[in-house]
Amino acid sequence: MEVSSDREYIYTSSELDQQEGQLIEEIKASAREAIPDPDAWLDEEIKRNILLTTVDAVVGWGRRYSLWPAVCFPACCAFEFIAAEGPRFDLARFGMDAMRATPRQADLMITAGTLTWKMAPVVRRIYNQMPEPKWVIAMGACAISGGIFRSSYSVVPGYNRIIPVDVYVPGCPPRPEALIYGIQQLHKKINKIHVIPDLPQFLQKGKQG
Ligand code: SF4
Repeated sequence: MEVSSDREYIYTSSELDQQEGQLIEEIKASAREAIPDPDAWLDEEIKRNILLTTVDAVVGWGRRYSLWPAVCFPACCAFEFIAAEGPRFDLARFGMDAMRATPRQADLMITAGTLTWKMAPVVRRIYNQMPEPKWVIAMGACAISGGIFRSSYSVVPGYNRIIPVDVYVPGCPPRPEALIYGIQQLHKKINKIHVIPDLPQFLQKGKQG
């Protein structure tokens, strides 16, 4: 090593080569193993804290377990519905314990009983007053087809003549287990509903502005 006139150290080229070589050897010695990813803990955190799902699945789950039935029980099937609401069958398990006396707060109509033509406009009005999305379960033979009163001049041969029906629960009357099975079928139907009915068309519209 030489010392210049203004006391600065001047390295020869061989000294520089040696220093550089030494540094490289030190790095090599410490680089036998790959350095672990400092953010690897993130993967574990994500696994533990984030539930990956779709908006449809979440909304469907919420709708399924918060169905609020409107009161619409014109005849004897109503008693089986009352039994289903009781502690033995416990419809509250499905989030259905809140019976609504106003259709504006209901999204499910369980039509438990014979419907006469005189009552038909009232039932249709109740249905029309329910907000969307809404569903109808026809409970019992009378609700499905008029049942044993089908040929009577005064009986509507099925609720589906005046309002759309989603699920039919046969029987005269159907037992609470049958009604619960019908409700489970409705759950499956609700689960298939998309929040945005036609997603490709919706995205296309968004692009067009
Ligand atoms: S299906 Fe039978 S139990 Fe139900 S309303 Fe009709 S007659 Fe009554």
